[in-house]
Amino acid sequence: KKTSWKPNDSESKHLPIYRHKTKLVQAVEDSTFLLVTGETGSGKTTQLPQYLHEAGFCKNGKVGITQPRRVAAITVAQRVAQEMKCTLGREVGYQVRFDDCTSQDTAVKYMTDGCLLREVLADPALSQYSVVILDEVHERSLNTDILLGLLKNIFSNPSKATRGRAFPLKVVVMSATMETDKLSAFLSSCPVFAIPGRVFPVTCTFGSAVGPKDAESTFYVKEVVKVALDVHTGEKAGDILVFLTGQSEIERACDLMFEKAECIDYRYDVRDRTVEGLLILPLYGSMPTDQQRQIFQPPPPGIRKCVVATNIAATSLTINGIKYIVDSGFVKQLSHNSRVGMDVLEVVPISKSEAQQRAGRAGRTSAGKCFRIYTEEFWEKCMPEYTVPEIQRTSLTAVVLTLKCLSVHDVIRFPYLDRPEERFILEALKQLYQFDAIDRRGGVTKLGELMVEFPLHPGLTRALLRAASLGCQDLLLPVAAMLSVENIFIRPGHPDKQKEADKKHRALAAKTGGMNDFATLLSVFQLCKSSDRPSAWCKDNWIHWRALKSAFSVETQLREILVRLQQRKDFPVETFVGNKSELLRRCLCTGYFTNVARRSVGKVFCTMDGHGSMVHIHPASSLFDQEADLNWIVFHDVLVTSRVYVRTVCPIRYEWVKDLLPKLHEVDVYELSSVARE
Ligand code: ADP
Ligand code: MG
Repeated sequence: KKTSWKPNDSESKHLPIYRHKTKLVQAVEDSTFLLVTGETGSGKTTQLPQYLHEAGFCKNGKVGITQPRRVAAITVAQRVAQEMKCTLGREVGYQVRFDDCTSQDTAVKYMTDGCLLREVLADPALSQYSVVILDEVHERSLNTDILLGLLKNIFSNPSKATRGRAFPLKVVVMSATMETDKLSAFLSSCPVFAIPGRVFPVTCTFGSAVGPKDAESTFYVKEVVKVALDVHTGEKAGDILVFLTGQSEIERACDLMFEKAECIDYRYDVRDRTVEGLLILPLYGSMPTDQQRQIFQPPPPGIRKCVVATNIAATSLTINGIKYIVDSGFVKQLSHNSRVGMDVLEVVPISKSEAQQRAGRAGRTSAGKCFRIYTEEFWEKCMPEYTVPEIQRTSLTAVVLTLKCLSVHDVIRFPYLDRPEERFILEALKQLYQFDAIDRRGGVTKLGELMVEFPLHPGLTRALLRAASLGCQDLLLPVAAMLSVENIFIRPGHPDKQKEADKKHRALAAKTGGMNDFATLLSVFQLCKSSDRPSAWCKDNWIHWRALKSAFSVETQLREILVRLQQRKDFPVETFVGNKSELLRRCLCTGYFTNVARRSVGKVFCTMDGHGSMVHIHPASSLFDQEADLNWIVFHDVLVTSRVYVRTVCPIRYEWVKDLLPKLHEVDVYELSSVARE
């Protein structure tokens, strides 16, 4: 039986940051902006907020720390609560989208950068906080970049900085070593506090498996498994960290490790996934947090730990004891895909600086080794020098609406650390105009003010608000919730089980006529909710109970926001004329008319947004293989592999979008661009 591992004081005293405690606290005291840099694992995220708490900074307000990743916010808060010997949610808490674990007592609050951005909307002076720490700034997430600009704005206007506040706000920006000069210059030449840390050499070797031609293959999963098992059988003691792309690849790699190991002499325990002395632990964002906690515990004596993780283990979380890295060379990244004109999650080669960061994880406490599965040629030809900041590669629609609602009308001359291309800003304005969130002069409409309140994609919000104005929010709220949680349909790896699951899922879709994926989501939500034994119902139908449970909670939260907004006198009200059975689809059209496609030939559809991309219905959709009966469809999102697939689909009638489609072309981008500069 494993003993649960408790941190103790002496442990945090060994972290590089500890020796600088007094000076650091003084530096925060002395400056408005402070930039703190230090190697990953030096103790910035877990220790500095505690030092500030101890030094009395929480007397005037909270210490708030942002993280780009929700898992990081949660696990770090858990850890700090443990170190401070308090219950999570009391003195130390966290808040991420749809999950608020804070209370009146919370003095140290970890949160996602998205959450802080929403707080700025409600309270631009951040009057609840004495110190705001923007962490992991080197990750260059969209929301953190926007927060940097907003905070810079606040201080460039002294009256703004003090309005609504009884005492001055302190801002600390933390980063793992990168771009110190640029950041400091951006923040009015603020002081830089560098935490010296020791790094041990890491020997990197290139492999022969993935070359320039494999940039789109899924072959890398098998290869990392092979390399990891070779390390296990051939290398001295020390834990392994494998970098992969996402949940499904990670689960597959873990499964493969068993299968492979089973060919040799094996002995394993299903729960811990121990294969002949190897403890295999997956780590990805949507994992249950109690499982995530396991990865920090040292393995039992004589056992080697192998963590198979996404990029989250590159800088956000530090796992002690890692001596070997296996680098797949790929990452799953959200980018604007110009081929389809939409944001798409894609597997792409990492940058060289990212690869160095990954390798560095092996050299924290002693010399280590990094095994790259790709060739040197792949490194030279396929991997860019640096990762492009998110702000320069994703849709800015939601962020531009937020800025407009914060009275930042000149979204082009906003102080961006790295300016996005103007066409991305214009694209965002165009979309907002199409959703009726801004008017022709770029001003926020009544609808836009309502839309910004929802932490959802603007299209989905638009559909939800249409439904609410027609009084049928009960159709859209569950759908919006289901689309906001991870995939609820279980896809087992084993072929026989897969068949069984497919059959159950088809039966669920058939309940609503088998021709509308959105209606299936609604029906699954309702069936489970009204079931006496919901978890058993899920098990029986191959549905993720945990995901569905979060959908229930998300639905409640969205409903609360909606009820609050409906109390406004000017909340729109409409009456519906037409067939009631079409209501759901009609509302979807209002938000998803940018995602309309028409069948051209065979199974191929053509999008109507001006890009005219050729798309296919994803095999997981209940409309797959029924293409011959379809003409017009709307879809929720796209998946790009060798083909472009649309997922979560329903058929529509042309009449429903006839008046909306011209909006996709009517917008005078030049007009919007001139208002963007005003
Ligand atoms: P930095 O922010 O500088 O990268 P952190 O404060 O995240 O550093 O980490 C400091 C130390 O705390 C590391 O040794 C890390 O392994 C440890 N640590 C962080 N979170 C946990 C956790 N949940 N469980 C155990 N150890 C943790
Ligand atoms: Mg950190």
